[in-house]
Amino acid sequence: MRLKIINATIITPYRYIRNGSIVVENGVILEIKEGDIDFPDSDVIDAGGKYVAPGFIDLHIHGGGGHDFMDGTVDAFLKIAETHAQYGTTALVPTTLTSEKEDLLVTLDNYEKANATNLFGAQFLGMHLEGPYFALSQRGAQDPRYIRNPDPAEYEEVLAYSSSITRWSAAPELPGAIDFGKRLKQKGILAAVAHTDAIYEEVLEAYENGYTLATHLYSAMSGVTRRNAFRYAGTIESAFLLDMDVEIIADGVHLPAPLLKLIYKIKGPDRIALITDAMRAAGMPEGESTLGSLKNGLKVIVEDGVAKLPDRTSFAGSVSTADRLVRNMVKMADVSLLDSVRMMTATPARIMGVDQKKGTLAAGKDADIVIFDENIQVEMTIVKGKIIYEQKNRSVTTTNYES
Ligand SMILES: [Zn+2]
Repeated sequence: MRLKIINATIITPYRYIRNGSIVVENGVILEIKEGDIDFPDSDVIDAGGKYVAPGFIDLHIHGGGGHDFMDGTVDAFLKIAETHAQYGTTALVPTTLTSEKEDLLVTLDNYEKANATNLFGAQFLGMHLEGPYFALSQRGAQDPRYIRNPDPAEYEEVLAYSSSITRWSAAPELPGAIDFGKRLKQKGILAAVAHTDAIYEEVLEAYENGYTLATHLYSAMSGVTRRNAFRYAGTIESAFLLDMDVEIIADGVHLPAPLLKLIYKIKGPDRIALITDAMRAAGMPEGESTLGSLKNGLKVIVEDGVAKLPDRTSFAGSVSTADRLVRNMVKMADVSLLDSVRMMTATPARIMGVDQKKGTLAAGKDADIVIFDENIQVEMTIVKGKIIYEQKNRSVTTTNYES
């Protein structure tokens, strides 16, 4: 399997290489440089001057194409992975909602099966468990019936059940949450603060004990509070002050332009991962949908590019795709295309610990590649050297090698 991409505006994402070429063998990048590379007997993709970037990496995603990872089927995993591949995503971390333990275990089983048969979608980077150890007061759209304090008997059972958990989000101020963070760190699992009312002193202790990421910054977390006359810094300020990584739902709805700019100004592109946090309606026409389980989930309405509660008093999930996140950072937050792509590629790869293989275009890395135009409309998505999505009206041309 030999592949050459020519005539590309390459985003590494640390610089542009104009009129660049990339050659790939057996799913791995062999060489990248300006100009042509002599590489006989290969398929050739002429990018026509379009942008060629590392594939997008989504650290926090629940669904898309009408499916949720907790639907209880392997097919849901595969369909979500294929849906988001159409928008440039080449790797993602399937995320759960708080639920009964049985539903969680079924989802973990389905992950294993889907991961073994996923040929046409974005790759899976392990499971993200979002909950159930959250502050009830910051539950957002998480079902309050299942929210509880960390219970070692329970989480040890889950950790023993599956070796595919790569991140877990919890509220660090709960009794037992520090021990929980230490345990995750020991297992090599990324611990993140989420759905939390913690003040700075609690976040600091958490940070020192394994919690290195803030889940969807600003959403379902404390800011400055007053107790009697005294002010306390909340989780948001703590994430700014400490060397924590943050992930943001840059769908253009959850965070307005000034907050996108503020976060970028304080944390910079090396500490920010763009996430979709998408629910099942991502990649679907607007209208009615269901948040969470099809059986007993919440009826929601999708309009204005976001899911809302039927009475429109609150958002009920994002329907974003990765291309839209990058576009918003460029158009709404005035961030350069290089930095915007970096927050969707190199930075999430480093946060998940997969940067040896993914997140940048460089020799020796997996050939996970996205080709898009000046409006960040995706024309082609490539995973490990294989084309898994081609836009119908693309201008990019492909020539297959005939032996
Ligand atoms: Zn989520």
